[in-house]
Amino acid sequence: MKVIDHINQANGKTLISFEVLPPLKGKGIGALYSHLDPLMEFRPAYINVTYHRSEHVFKKRGDSTFEKVIIRKRPGTESICAAIMNKYDVDTVPHLICGGFSVNETEDALLNLQYLGIDNVLVLRGDAAKNETAFEAEPGGHRYASDLLRQVMNLNSGIYLEEDLKATSRTTFCIGVAGYPEKHFEAPNMESDLRYLKMKVEGGADYIVTQMFFDNSKYYAFVKACRDAGITVPIIPGIKPVYSKKQLTVLPKTFHIDLPTDLSNEILKCRTDEEVEQVGAEWLLHQSRDLKKNGVPVLHYYTLGKPHIVANVVKQLC
Ligand code: FAD
Repeated sequence: MKVIDHINQANGKTLISFEVLPPLKGKGIGALYSHLDPLMEFRPAYINVTYHRSEHVFKKRGDSTFEKVIIRKRPGTESICAAIMNKYDVDTVPHLICGGFSVNETEDALLNLQYLGIDNVLVLRGDAAKNETAFEAEPGGHRYASDLLRQVMNLNSGIYLEEDLKATSRTTFCIGVAGYPEKHFEAPNMESDLRYLKMKVEGGADYIVTQMFFDNSKYYAFVKACRDAGITVPIIPGIKPVYSKKQLTVLPKTFHIDLPTDLSNEILKCRTDEEVEQVGAEWLLHQSRDLKKNGVPVLHYYTLGKPHIVANVVKQLC
């Protein structure tokens, strides 16, 4: 079932969704099931699975020279979605990115998803590859999420890359896109970022899911700015727990977000990461309660290796 249908059929009740990463290569799908098992009792409406592109790394040879090799640490997004659907009978949302894909590869990936019975995609540009200073589109690939979205919408209309194909079947993807309450780091200002977000919605996106934030007032201000700009689709808040002192610097650096002073002060007082986990869980519960009270359509939890923290928070929320 499509994410937008889940939202429309909930009649204003706040749904729960989780986001997981494919297991590291070598760990096996069992690692992912152990991660999801404690979360499934909360009957999530759907589960997102992230996409991780290949990386170039330099491996040292026996003669002390280096060899450039391409590795993919977390493969399998599409098949993992199918495996999760099969095991838990829950809808899934694979993330689909521009980076590393030609348009032909994208079309094949979308058809594979359709064959697997997956109705949803989160359409993203992706970040720069580790060896790039800025995002570079694949030769013959898409530059922006809005370009990728156009390809998905074309397939939904039965328009394939091979123009000669006749009497084609239409895909039926429900499309989510990303939004940034604290602005995408490359956008010169919020107005510009919102203009392109609106372009994605006008291009056919059914809903927006946000980058993580720790200050709900930023989410509410973002929703208001979107509404003022004429963006009317549901805006799903993405939230996660903080669980280590290191994240005080890693989260702002990686995701270009702020941690509120009250939260960072509490974390600084902690002597161990166990104490930070406690602070992070309380903060997440407080954020979740406030968002739910304000009628958000879905609480989307980035579980990122810490399912027990999220499970404890959702348990107290229900
Ligand atoms: P876009 O919408 O293309 O925007 C990128 C930048 O370009 C923005 O600054 C925007 O303002 C600007 N822009 C957009 N369109 C135009 C245009 N036509 N002309 C000029 N400027 C334009 N990354 C992964 O690799 N894998 C994942 O699984 C993944 N999951 C994510 C899930 C969520 C909920 C979020 C919020 C992010 C996720 N990301 C993921 C990270 C995401 O790929 C990066 O944040 C990326 O830098 C931007 O992606 P986007 O889809 O927002 O890009």
